[in-house]
Amino acid sequence: MKNYDTVKREIINSTRWLVEHGFLGQLSSGGNISARVPGEKAVAITPSGKPYLTLKENDVCIIDFDRNPIEARSAPSIEAAIHIGVYQNRSDVNAVIHTHQTFASILSIINKPIPALLEEITVEIGHVVDIIPYAFSGSPELVSNVIGQLGNACHCYLIQNHGALCLGADMQRAMKNAELLENVAKIYYHALATGEEITKLTQSAIDYFADMRKLRFI
Ligand SMILES: [Zn+2]
Repeated sequence: MKNYDTVKREIINSTRWLVEHGFLGQLSSGGNISARVPGEKAVAITPSGKPYLTLKENDVCIIDFDRNPIEARSAPSIEAAIHIGVYQNRSDVNAVIHTHQTFASILSIINKPIPALLEEITVEIGHVVDIIPYAFSGSPELVSNVIGQLGNACHCYLIQNHGALCLGADMQRAMKNAELLENVAKIYYHALATGEEITKLTQSAIDYFADMRKLRFI
């Protein structure tokens, strides 16, 4: 029987970091995290409805792409189909983090994509943080809404009236993208609040950083 300890440990360690830094609740379990299991059509994902602060490695679920349990003591996150949909449609992604982080969630309820504003964000996340249209959590409609937006090759999205979806080539990159997204969402929110005109990167700058990004990630 295959040993999934390494990928389970990675989920627990990143969950702890995300809880400690305010991306996930300490007592609530909003949001979910997964990693692609190397060499298999399977994912390691956080369980449904368990507080993240006390999560143990044995609580992490290993499921296949049809959501059948391979090694799972609990039910997987109700958003497992979203994570699987990402892995099936984006070969550049090996880790997925869904959070209810504050400033990204603010922009998700005013339904405002984040354009290319800052160099680092445009290189790491992409030319836009687009909106995934609202549907009920756990619904097939939300899965198809997510899949419908993945073609822009970006690494972060806002789920309308819900939260954020952050992707990465590995877990470290997905966590870094969650942090970068929160920073830019906070900056954009405060800039919008001034009522002044927002300056965006020029198209030639966007193209330049898109080329740089392709060499690094896509
Ligand atoms: Zn959620």
